[in-house]
Amino acid sequence: MKVLFIEAEETFYMPIDTKMPKRWTYLAEIATYISKENEVKVLDCLSSKISHAEVLEEVSKTKYDLICFLARIETINSLLKLIPLIRKICPESKMIIYGDAIPMFPNFIKKNFGDLDAIIESGDWEVAISNYIDFIEGKKFFDGNIPGITIKDKDRNKWIDATRCSGENFTGWTFTDLDSKLIDVNLYKSLRHNEVTISASRGCPYNCKFCLAVKTFDKDDRRKNIGEIVQYMNNNVSKVSDFKLFSPTFTYDEKWVISFCKELIDNKINATWVTTSRTDKLQNEEMIEKMAEAGCKKLAVGVETLDEKANRELKKFNDLEDYRNKVENMFKLANKYNIEIKPLLMMGIKGQSKENILDSLNFLTSIGARDIRIAAYSPRQLLTELDNKRTLTLKDINAMDKMTYIDYMPEGMDNFNFLNLIYNTKKYVELL
Ligand code: SF4
Repeated sequence: MKVLFIEAEETFYMPIDTKMPKRWTYLAEIATYISKENEVKVLDCLSSKISHAEVLEEVSKTKYDLICFLARIETINSLLKLIPLIRKICPESKMIIYGDAIPMFPNFIKKNFGDLDAIIESGDWEVAISNYIDFIEGKKFFDGNIPGITIKDKDRNKWIDATRCSGENFTGWTFTDLDSKLIDVNLYKSLRHNEVTISASRGCPYNCKFCLAVKTFDKDDRRKNIGEIVQYMNNNVSKVSDFKLFSPTFTYDEKWVISFCKELIDNKINATWVTTSRTDKLQNEEMIEKMAEAGCKKLAVGVETLDEKANRELKKFNDLEDYRNKVENMFKLANKYNIEIKPLLMMGIKGQSKENILDSLNFLTSIGARDIRIAAYSPRQLLTELDNKRTLTLKDINAMDKMTYIDYMPEGMDNFNFLNLIYNTKKYVELL
């Protein structure tokens, strides 16, 4: 089967390097899996050589049996225009949409993307796409009941809602072949300092209300086979500077992490890698020592806020003093083993003020933070609430940009401070 994957142009304002890990995992890894049994092409409008015009040229030149659109909140605007045009050019092709925007506002998608044939609402995307291919090839799911997929009943022109799919602990996802021509590997690497992303785990048991991790791949932590990751790193270590081990909370399973590190060390894999985690899951010195020995050089950690009042909104910690102690201890351990911690903070949470933001920044700097990333608190759960009431609008979606959303202005700040602090964080002292 001839399959085309499309990631449309983005309309949100995130720095380019922060976009790359999800492109590897949501586009390249999914397409790689489907390419094992199908003829696959990927058009990612990230490339300056691919605009929507090139996408339309491609679909008018080549007849695809299936076109898969990756729907992220950043691309909804573009898809609203692009999908109807592709439908006009390709009346015979099947068109399916997947991505983390769908579980956030499924009713909006159903209402506004009537040209599609199928919508992946839950489950692992590569499994769902493979199942859909089996369905359209007439091999399986003869009654049209495909787990996790809402399909269009063409005769009655209405959607037949999906049955829920929890992913059934799937861990068979594939990593991107760096020698294949499926994606522009050099472009991806160049935009991410020669780093390559690998999905180490899926699912997150914490379910922080502002985060999409649980909505995307559910709450059960599932991990890739250690041997497969290590082998991939070994095969590709000479082609990259670092690996990004993509994981909602990489150190959630501490035993797994220690075993993984031992495997890297025992096999003398001389690779450096970075990953993400949480403060409370970075308190184990034995694990952090092993991570450092195995090549871990940087950890991005969602500290989010160090303010008691703002925490009432996020519920990130139970006791402020205990949380600050844990943040401090995490830095102490990481500094001891030469791992850099990059704390991620959110701004615009109810209760925050210029004073307590400055206090958090000073505290993090005093315990060794050199590179702090601040994003706007974008409470995406609000979109789901509006979607459930069927009142969600495109304007609501467009406003929910992780970098520019301002619902609550911290006391003592203004738009100038807020946006400059996000886009020019290093200058925070002068700005505040
Ligand atoms: S721990 Fe991190 S990945 Fe998991 S739900 Fe919370 S913010 Fe998301």
